[in-house]
Amino acid sequence: MAFLARFRTFGCKLNQIETESLAAAFARAGFETVARGPAQVYVVNTCTVTSMAEQKARREIRGYLRESPAGVVIVTGCYASVSAADIAALGPRVAVFPGGLKSALHAAAADLAEALRKGLDVYDAAIAALESATRSSLDRPSQGGSFAFFPERFAFHSRASLKVEDGCDNRCAYCRVCIARGRAVSLDPETALARTRALEASGAREIVLTGVNLSQYRRSGLSFAGLLSKLTDGTESVRFRISSWEPDRVDGEFLEAFAHPRVCAHAHLAAQSGSDAVLARMGRRYDPVTVARAVRDIRAAKDDPFIGFDAISGFPGETDAEARESADFFASVGPAWIHAFTFSPRPGTRAISMRPLVPERVAAERSRELAAIGRRGRIEYAARWVGRDVMAVLEATGEIDPDDAPPSGDEPGTARADFHAARIAVADNYLRLSVPGRLPDGSIPAAGVLERLRIESATGDGSGGLGAPDARACFVRTAG
Ligand code: SF4
Repeated sequence: MAFLARFRTFGCKLNQIETESLAAAFARAGFETVARGPAQVYVVNTCTVTSMAEQKARREIRGYLRESPAGVVIVTGCYASVSAADIAALGPRVAVFPGGLKSALHAAAADLAEALRKGLDVYDAAIAALESATRSSLDRPSQGGSFAFFPERFAFHSRASLKVEDGCDNRCAYCRVCIARGRAVSLDPETALARTRALEASGAREIVLTGVNLSQYRRSGLSFAGLLSKLTDGTESVRFRISSWEPDRVDGEFLEAFAHPRVCAHAHLAAQSGSDAVLARMGRRYDPVTVARAVRDIRAAKDDPFIGFDAISGFPGETDAEARESADFFASVGPAWIHAFTFSPRPGTRAISMRPLVPERVAAERSRELAAIGRRGRIEYAARWVGRDVMAVLEATGEIDPDDAPPSGDEPGTARADFHAARIAVADNYLRLSVPGRLPDGSIPAAGVLERLRIESATGDGSGGLGAPDARACFVRTAG
């Protein structure tokens, strides 16, 4: 008899790959993964970047407790690392595995399945696993624990990921991730290559390389660029995507590795602000001139790459003039996307005591302006690619975040329902493309397959959301 497990992930790509790894372990232990409805075990992989992410996690945890009174809600991740007691207080059947004990959940999966088979209380089994992991301390945020996450199959994503770095040695004023995940550690290059080859052999066509701060990768004398070159040299056909990068680390070595034809034409720069003074207060180690130079050099390395940015608005002390300077800067560099969010004061960080605070309403308004610049940039970027061919990996629908799901009552035949029946592909240049549900020969395309597509028209609203693909594309197949 299969037992049911449900997974919920908040936050970054690192959390997503770690959830994938845990889901694979639960599948091996005999659990069936469900996307909705009651389960015996819930695993909530949390984020602490904003208070909103924490609030959302608490709401979902309470919902799971109501939904399955005899189940267990296992909470892990960065929020669990910094606020374990608060989370445990949410209900009697919550087991908190701080992020440093997250990888112990791989082994715990079998214990939980065993308890359920024997008719024992699964919550008790989770607590026993937690106590055992805590006692042995085998899973401190160290090389072994950080890199125990290597799913042999991906339940929620069509594109594979490989975690090569964890933690960060910087201490940016607003950041709690570096507190939750600890100092930078890097996966050794030989293991990284072996894992990459295993993913390639299993059919992966694209691997997203992830870490908290990839620019801090350093192991066996290799920087991240050295690692990337080792991975491209040591593989045949798989493509690599860099999850995000620091603007001040776009140097010659990085650009050379990035220029490789199997490295996707996509760079996401953690720029955070376009104001020199704000960047200095944030503790970032570069100025807008450096960011602009990074953009120019990245553009020179590839044919019109997709360049996205992270941008925080409403950092303490941000004046109207600085906010204007920041928005003008981002508009001037021609972003294909801006991940705009408002500053969230996090306990334990330097910024929590910085003054003056920017009123929430003002910060939100500034964030909306940055997001609008990003949306306009994305529409323009997609339009530039109309009529051109791209390589793209077809996506499975997978689990849809309830926040992204179409409104209930969507009937087949409506535009949105048709969209969900069709396929989405993610291009080398990160454009999200809607493609026909059938190949030219009438067969149904498989998820995870790499296809040549021709972009026919730009269709998106610039949001990059699930319901608004950037463009419509068709399959390009040569005879034979
Ligand atoms: S670079 Fe700064 S923001 Fe990014 S993880 Fe490190 S400390 Fe946090």
